[in-house]
Amino acid sequence: MSRFLSDGAAKIAPYVPGEQPQDKSYIKLNTNECPYGPSLLVKDAIGRFQADSLRLYPDPDAGRLKEAAARAYGLAPEQVFAAGGSDEALAYAFMAFFDRGDPVAYPDITYGFYRVYADLFRLESREIPLTEDYAIDIEAYRDVAGHLFIANPNAPTGLLLPTDAIEALLRQNPDRLVVVDEAYIDFAEQPSCVSLVEQYDNLLVVQTFSKSRALAGMRLGFAFGSAPLIEGLERIKYSFNPYNLDRLSIEVGIAALADRQYVETIAGRIRKTRDWTTKQLESLGFQVLPSASNFLFARLPGREGAALYGALKDRGILVRHFPKPRISEFLRITIGTDEEMRTLLQNVTELLR
Ligand SMILES: *Cc1c(COP(=O)(O)O)cnc(C)c1O
Repeated sequence: MSRFLSDGAAKIAPYVPGEQPQDKSYIKLNTNECPYGPSLLVKDAIGRFQADSLRLYPDPDAGRLKEAAARAYGLAPEQVFAAGGSDEALAYAFMAFFDRGDPVAYPDITYGFYRVYADLFRLESREIPLTEDYAIDIEAYRDVAGHLFIANPNAPTGLLLPTDAIEALLRQNPDRLVVVDEAYIDFAEQPSCVSLVEQYDNLLVVQTFSKSRALAGMRLGFAFGSAPLIEGLERIKYSFNPYNLDRLSIEVGIAALADRQYVETIAGRIRKTRDWTTKQLESLGFQVLPSASNFLFARLPGREGAALYGALKDRGILVRHFPKPRISEFLRITIGTDEEMRTLLQNVTELLR
């Protein structure tokens, strides 16, 4: 470690992204990417893109992209914040709304970045245990003194909270910010809770184009909330990275939003493969949590997941294993194509023999 490293930087444990191996090609079921390519409208937009335009800075406001997103989600442009991935939107929320030492609360088993950002921005973390069944019990959040981060569907469990539970959380905590991370909502058969931002000034909804729009490599994410909340995020953006979205990302984002059929088609296909894969894994003896996302969280009860993870990797199939209390028996398996899932199941069957 450098002697110049700050105490704060020395203390944080950085986020560990899922493996992105560059050595050989795997069946990649470890980072919840989409197995299908992005919309044809996206491909057209990239084909039309003028490289010469890169000599100019992009629109710092990403105005056309925000207008397109506002139209798509039934909001005003002032209720939309555009970011380079939803992780960036989350970081700006941490910077805009909390002071050092403020408490933030989130489930003990959830997206790992909430903890990393809490540490990075020197906030106090409260981890609220999921129930025995790995569900979020909203009653457990009633008396938590802290702003809330809820992934819905949750990751890595895949479990969904119904909209009325989200609303109950918002009503229970009127003086706390409630950030709902909807990275996987397009795979759930439940609408986004963006429509609630009109009614609740303590709601910030975060979404990404990395999963259901097959654009993880592009870095596009959004936050939706009341105009004053969005203005708060803009203050940070203009104090940190005013040109956070490059010209190509802006064009790609607009094109993705123009294809209204795309998400429905992709999500339908993924759900079908997901439900089939669930049944197959269950018939092999797995417990599979009921998933509303594009991944499964599954275990062989009483068996650690690390060995199966390693054996699958040796066979060229990458899944995710978290060596953490409560979930070390589980594997998180991204839903790939039907063929990829058949290969996975065949290999699991052989390994269990
Ligand atoms: C994948 C994921 C993100 C990050 O998405 P990016 O837009 O690629 O930064 C955020 N939250 C959750 C819960 C995720 O699973």
